[in-house]
Amino acid sequence: MNTSSLPRIAVLATGGTIAGQAGDASKTAGYKAGVVGVDKLLDAVPALGNVARIHAEQIASIDSKDMCAALWTTLSRRIDALLAQDDIDGVVVTHGTDTLEETAYLLHLTVKSAKPVVLTAAMRPSTALSADGPLNLLNAVTVAASKDAAGKGVLVAFNNQIHSARDVTKTSTYAVDAFRSPETGALGFVQDGRVEFQRTVVRPHTAASEFAVTDAWPTVEIVASYADASRVTVDALVAAGVRGIVVAGTGNGSMHATLTHALADAVKKGVAVVRASRVGSGHVMRNGAASDDALGTVSAGTLNPYKARVLLMLALASGANDLQRIFDTY
Ligand code: ASP
Repeated sequence: MNTSSLPRIAVLATGGTIAGQAGDASKTAGYKAGVVGVDKLLDAVPALGNVARIHAEQIASIDSKDMCAALWTTLSRRIDALLAQDDIDGVVVTHGTDTLEETAYLLHLTVKSAKPVVLTAAMRPSTALSADGPLNLLNAVTVAASKDAAGKGVLVAFNNQIHSARDVTKTSTYAVDAFRSPETGALGFVQDGRVEFQRTVVRPHTAASEFAVTDAWPTVEIVASYADASRVTVDALVAAGVRGIVVAGTGNGSMHATLTHALADAVKKGVAVVRASRVGSGHVMRNGAASDDALGTVSAGTLNPYKARVLLMLALASGANDLQRIFDTY
């Protein structure tokens, strides 16, 4: 094979269980995430050499539960810089599963290239029997090397499926098919070198997005509604000077009456409040289970609370004040 004609893919490693290590191959829960370096991850998948020429970088070595906004900024800028190079055809990011959906959506809205960007991860550490990381990595590189993946925004390749960063969410604490796109379903699949898309992404992303990463992120927190909820958390957040609050509401973004009063007070003090749902699928209707017009709140639509927080951070960082338009658009 003439490998010099293969696409050149940058693999950016950030840690996660895909780079996890346990003392015993039978351990799939007791292990340390983010300790195996990117070179070792690549060495475990010799078949990558048939798919792409790899440029590897270790961006971070963390458990993704510890992901932070400053690292999002670094990652997004590095991806843009690499994709601006003529000799890079796509990017794969290896990541932990815990906050993968947040990083993926952040990149979906901030990377400015149409070249493929694909995130992948693993549920089992690299040392486990039947580790899922190596095949997920091979599949992610296969997707990133595919011309069909261009222009679709940031993608997540996991367990043979290809998901849009906007819709995908982690739905299992242990299963290797841990990711789903509720309501919409996967975009397609990747198996044995074949990449097939079955639907496309309609909302704006990447170069069509109005957002950019920043070095000065606004503070946005998430508050849940539940039986007997009090106003203690909301009042403390307002006193601490947060710029935004996302509510993980019950059902269709409904909120305990006590919380509703606290949030209405927060809005009056200039805090942006977005109603999402803790349910895990479905959408939150504007003026549905609560009057957004009366409260001055915004409905998150189909974004879960964690993704709604990402969009609210980006929107506040951009200085936008038409938040409902933004949530209706992205
Ligand atoms: N805690 C790990 C992480 O998110 C879990 C995983 O990768 O599956 O980094």
